[in-house]
Amino acid sequence: MMQIFIPLNFLGFVYREMKGALANIEKMFALLAVEPAVSDNPDARELEVRSGRIDFEEVHFGYREDREILRGVSFSVAPRQKVAIVGASGAGKSTLFKLLFRFYDVSDGRILIDGRDIREVDQQSLRRAIGVVPQDAVLFNQSILENVRYGRANASDEEVMEAIRHAQLDDFIRQLPEGADTLVGERGLKLSGGEKQRVAIARALLKRPPIMVFDEATSSLDSRSERGILAAMGEIAREQTTLVIAHRLSTVVDADVILVMDRGRIVERGAHGELLARDGHYAALWRMQQQEHSAEALPSAVSSV
Ligand code: ADP
Ligand code: MG
Repeated sequence: MMQIFIPLNFLGFVYREMKGALANIEKMFALLAVEPAVSDNPDARELEVRSGRIDFEEVHFGYREDREILRGVSFSVAPRQKVAIVGASGAGKSTLFKLLFRFYDVSDGRILIDGRDIREVDQQSLRRAIGVVPQDAVLFNQSILENVRYGRANASDEEVMEAIRHAQLDDFIRQLPEGADTLVGERGLKLSGGEKQRVAIARALLKRPPIMVFDEATSSLDSRSERGILAAMGEIAREQTTLVIAHRLSTVVDADVILVMDRGRIVERGAHGELLARDGHYAALWRMQQQEHSAEALPSAVSSV
């Protein structure tokens, strides 16, 4: 009985979300990729985000009882701060985000948004308050303009174009035969990973949720795409609370706080300069990436001789 009931109930939720807003397509796919493990408290109330503060307090969590993935994680993000999370693959970075969205409940500790325990708030209002720019943005077989408009269905063309400009997509669009009306996807233009991510950023800029979460692309972007994404992220981070899972440390240099995770714990925290000076985990990661970059640069330097 339970096995039947849960998926149907979940589909109902998905349908309501689709119908209600058609707002954040990433959210839909993110939701579909994980099993629903939590339900609303009967007296759950709407989450009204005024400032966008986030607190993780001694959070413990495991997907299975016999394996703890987060082992006492505490950190705070002040309104409009930018916090980056770095660390080896498997450290628990994406798990932090899944808990913030409340795809799962913590096994111990609490997560607060603006001082409210997220277990006490209505899940739809929680997810409305958070925008995601995922690693692989999903685009539809429509124009770039329409793809961006999914961020806010009733936005005017001018508002959509402004989001496109802020996401640093306008130079790219200018080169296209039909501009922002160019179709993307199977029947149209194929976008690179970096361009897709900027479409997702434009959507997020249009939606303007008080809290933004980025799971940065791992695939190496060319440096032009990277600069574009950095500039667009900067645009968001000025006004919104921003959390970034950073694979490339070049995107965290300007973060207010960098959290370094290792096997379910935060092992270092601080700004870029402080962490370099400490000469610990972060400094080692940084040196490693610097070496990778110079190694990448080598073959082309040789071939151009
Ligand atoms: P990161 O994002 O830092 O690479 P994750 O948070 O994705 O790490 O994963 C942390 C650990 O949790 C990994 O060992 C991973 O295998 C495990 N894990 C992630 N998702 C699930 C899941 N749905 N079920 C079981 N284990 C999972
Ligand atoms: Mg991850």
